[in-house]
Amino acid sequence: MKRPWLIALAGNPNVGKSTVFNSLTGLHQHTGNWPGKTVASAQGEYTFRGEKYRLIDLPGAYSLAAHSAEEEIARDFLCFQQPDACIVVCDATRLARSLNLVLQIRELCPRTIVCLNLMDEARKKGIVIHIRRLEKELGLPVIPTAARKKEGLRALTAAVEHACRHSRETPAPAVCPPGAERAVAVMEPVLLEQEAAFPKWAALRLLEGDDSLRDAMEKAWGIGGVPLERALTLAKRELERSGLSPEKLSDQTVGCLSAEADRICAAAEKGSGLSARDRRLDRLLTGKWTGIPIMLLLLAAVLWITIAGANYPSQWLSAGFAWIGARLEEGLLLLGAPELLRNVLLQGIWQVLSWVVAVMLPPMAIFFPLFTLLEDLGYLPRIAFTLDHCFQKAKACGKQALTMCMGFGCNAVGVSGCRIIDSPRERLLAMVTNSFVPCNGRFPLLISMITLFFAGAAGGLWGSALSALLLTGLLLLGVLMTFWVSRLLSATVLKGMPSSFTLELPPYRRPQVGQVLLRSVLDRTLFVLGRAVSIAAPAGLLLWCMANLTLGGETLLALCAGALDPFARILGLDGVILLAFILGSPANEIVVPIIIMAYMAQGHLMELELPALGQLLRANGWTWCTALCTMLFSLMHWPCTTTLLTIRKESGSWKWAALAAVVPTLCGMVLCAAVAFLARLAGIG
Ligand code: GDP
Repeated sequence: MKRPWLIALAGNPNVGKSTVFNSLTGLHQHTGNWPGKTVASAQGEYTFRGEKYRLIDLPGAYSLAAHSAEEEIARDFLCFQQPDACIVVCDATRLARSLNLVLQIRELCPRTIVCLNLMDEARKKGIVIHIRRLEKELGLPVIPTAARKKEGLRALTAAVEHACRHSRETPAPAVCPPGAERAVAVMEPVLLEQEAAFPKWAALRLLEGDDSLRDAMEKAWGIGGVPLERALTLAKRELERSGLSPEKLSDQTVGCLSAEADRICAAAEKGSGLSARDRRLDRLLTGKWTGIPIMLLLLAAVLWITIAGANYPSQWLSAGFAWIGARLEEGLLLLGAPELLRNVLLQGIWQVLSWVVAVMLPPMAIFFPLFTLLEDLGYLPRIAFTLDHCFQKAKACGKQALTMCMGFGCNAVGVSGCRIIDSPRERLLAMVTNSFVPCNGRFPLLISMITLFFAGAAGGLWGSALSALLLTGLLLLGVLMTFWVSRLLSATVLKGMPSSFTLELPPYRRPQVGQVLLRSVLDRTLFVLGRAVSIAAPAGLLLWCMANLTLGGETLLALCAGALDPFARILGLDGVILLAFILGSPANEIVVPIIIMAYMAQGHLMELELPALGQLLRANGWTWCTALCTMLFSLMHWPCTTTLLTIRKESGSWKWAALAAVVPTLCGMVLCAAVAFLARLAGIG
């Protein structure tokens, strides 16, 4: 029997790709993961006029530049599996952005079909798109659809059939920024000789320093070796002669694609897409005088709901875990497990694990849905718009404001959120500086220090208002540091100009609450929690060993703290605090419990009520200066291991993860040392 036609289904996230996929394949689909990746994959089949079609749902992506696992999968599939045709689902209400991906895919797949989805919404917004004009500009068939209402899907399948039966065409030429032509000309013949498909496209990607593609090409096509190396060296020299670095080249490619997408969009589209009500809202939400205050108010509200709302579920979870712990202990006793094993398992691994889950889960489960809700409403791009000016000054991208907002919930999520930034240079800036905004895990430490040492005396309503004010001040310091460090990095290791980023404000949409909950729980909460848990368990074991193994009558914990003490004093801290930050690397939540454990010489993590904690800290020599330095260091030190792993994964290199650890740590150390020095000088430490 004839094999089915292989059809790829691509598109930006949230354009209705799954809806199209489900409508076409119905029940004939199965899901799994892409080989070697944690990204979900779905395949399905459908029959049309007696022919079978296998539809492969590629992960949602904004580009094929392989900045994320999703984009890499989409690119590799189109490049190496060479499907018979590719459907790109586009959002008719945000045409320019969708076209960006179409332009890239058409370089790899000659039989690309544009599925212009969400036409019903576009009509409602008064957007008129000239389909024929768009087809002519793109050189591709365009099928308007409204997948939710199953409009246009038959025409889509017919277009796919037509494309498949047509003789093979050549793909559209690769977009080549001016200045790179000569370098490409050096590489093209070598790639052609080695029988690479799309030699011009491949040459450009290799010149942009895309190592993952290079490896994949070697594996799939057997391309590489000395001739390619030599050509690459020569071509890079040519590139340098034209004043282009790999980063600049990739920035320029992004720029060229956006400009072309904008041009086509302007030619084919009529109407702004924003209704009068949307425009009125925009005047308020992005206004010169109203934009920032409303943004701060909303942020404060989200933080407040998160902090206040997380308390009770945290307590319930703690109690629940304690109950399960007790049952586990009974079980182990029943099995006759030796005491050592029981202690290691329960006081070591179980306690840290349950601690991390109890403290992290509730705030995440509240914060992420709220955040996703704002995203769904269309408010987040407005924040980027409002703050764009500040980021431009730091030579960064306005969308970094969004990744910083995500960082308030969890830095690892903030870092993965950096995918929304198109330019690789600006994306790295955002990733490296993300930990300057404190995540949920650091808020408890900051709040208890403020309460115990700075605002506690005020008490009552004044106390909490003062706390909120001080906390906001600290957050603003983090934001200022982000600007400053971004500027510094832009002038040194991440040189380059800000890309001209054309931010389109999407129409406000009524959020789909069910979807929001599902997406934020599945995509974000469980993802982050899973990683945190996988690190917390071994950390619990290590911590227990350090607190219980002794050398010459002292625990390893005490010995390490003693060794760190002289250095820590320079920073206004003490050995125990510094050690707690080091051991707390898996999750910032466990820093305070480790401090308590070390001061009380307990073999396991402890939680204390605030007044008792204050007494304990003061008895161990804490002053307001120690508390201030601890807060500053909490705000500025290496990101937690989950975040570092995410940076490594997203940037593809340990180098950037290392930079992301070193930069905030250096800032924190310098600031702490300065505060401690000044306090000592003034005799008020
Ligand atoms: P994906 O992220 O691209 O897979 O997008 P989904 O298929 O999950 O769709 C995102 C949202 O858009 C869902 O709420 C869909 O119900 C909705 N949607 C999909 N297609 C259409 C359409 O043609 N018109 C309208 N109004 N909504 C649609």
